[in-house]
Amino acid sequence: MPDLDTIVSLAKRRGFIFPGSEIYGGLAGTWDYGPLGVALKNNLKNLWWRMFVDGREDIYGIDAAILMNAKVWKASGHVSGFSDPLVECGKCKKSFRADQVGSKCPECNGKLSEVQQFNMMFKTIVGAAEDESAVSYLRPETAGGIFVNFKNIIDSFHPELPFGVAQIGKAFRNEIAPRDFVFRAREFEQMEVEYFVRSGEWEKYFEEWRRETLRYIEAVGIDKSMVHELEVPDGERAHYSRRTIDFEFDFPFGRKELYGLAYRGDFDLSAHEGASGADLRYTDPEKKDKFIPHVIEPSLGVDRTILAILCSAYAEDELGGEKRVLLKLKPAIAPIKVAIFPLVKNKPNLVTKAREIYSALKKNIGAVAFDDNGNVGKRYRRQDEIGTPWCVTVDYQTLEDGTVTIRDRDTGKQERHKVAELELYFSKKLT
Ligand code: ATP
Repeated sequence: MPDLDTIVSLAKRRGFIFPGSEIYGGLAGTWDYGPLGVALKNNLKNLWWRMFVDGREDIYGIDAAILMNAKVWKASGHVSGFSDPLVECGKCKKSFRADQVGSKCPECNGKLSEVQQFNMMFKTIVGAAEDESAVSYLRPETAGGIFVNFKNIIDSFHPELPFGVAQIGKAFRNEIAPRDFVFRAREFEQMEVEYFVRSGEWEKYFEEWRRETLRYIEAVGIDKSMVHELEVPDGERAHYSRRTIDFEFDFPFGRKELYGLAYRGDFDLSAHEGASGADLRYTDPEKKDKFIPHVIEPSLGVDRTILAILCSAYAEDELGGEKRVLLKLKPAIAPIKVAIFPLVKNKPNLVTKAREIYSALKKNIGAVAFDDNGNVGKRYRRQDEIGTPWCVTVDYQTLEDGTVTIRDRDTGKQERHKVAELELYFSKKLT
């Protein structure tokens, strides 16, 4: 297991993740994804969407606004209850989460204040009038946007239970102590499904979503031996949840929550029905009775997924007597699938041929890189470190018989293949 600094520095050096607003000294709890980071992120979000929206008949995707009427968060209990216990040091004035520190300040040993409840929602003003009625919040979870669109989905698609509504999007929490790289950020992304069921069937679908979550964990290449399920005991669950399983991961800083799976009962729809006055009941198509469905929620953090993938994929080994660092990313989520090299940079016919192959593959596969910098060995190392599964080298033999070498990232083995077959070769490997 790499330590966190190793992952953070690789992520920065190679263009995966940068500290937010870096040239101004940063902004705690914010991170910017660079070219490789955004590619990795898009790949894992697309995979989630393919598995849970496009791959199923019973799930509807949405993309709701981040800014919502403040009444949403009053009804959901977030205005009154979405808080963490805060303590402040009387000496150095730093703030801490009371459940993460002892009785003294961990930085200067000063005396800590009494515990206060600190609401984690970011407040903002919508419009020009700065009064109480203009207050809104950046959503602290994507789920809110799903519940307020429940009626819209019912009215326009007439789904039958059980069915789900899915959303990927940003969420914001004013964490008291953002830390551990992208694990605890103030702005992050979630992938959530609210899966509506009949109350008597919740246990069956809770189990189904437990399996589906594990299937996703496997599909993105998170090491399953580092994932542990924790049944969250009474009294420690979120205010809306009647049963929760946390999927924890062995991060370099300890075993911590990666994803949550919660049975939220009919808490949300009932609360929104009560507060908005809208009829949020479902009508059974046969019996014609009306009732509020119950809901199962698998909630997956995009950024924690990225961190768990990087920790799972990071490896150091020796190849041909040389030490190397590699990311054993699954090809489906690797930011770059294939890198194309001319054997040397100063032979125009090799470069022209390599460029030709590069352009053709890029048209079809997209995430293809071209590299003619330094010697081939160095280029292999550079691609290994960012997890590129295959490197293709165009050499003198290519000009004679139309074949190239394909080198495998994990084994370092090289095979010769016909240029004309490359597209099919990689397409097969990527499906
Ligand atoms: P924690 O106990 O670690 O604060 P939580 O229980 O508050 O997490 P949930 O409300 O269950 O988290 O949020 C669902 C998912 O969203 C989490 O499992 C995680 O993947 C992600 N998530 C929550 N808070 C953050 C954050 N501050 N930074 C990055 N991801 C987060």
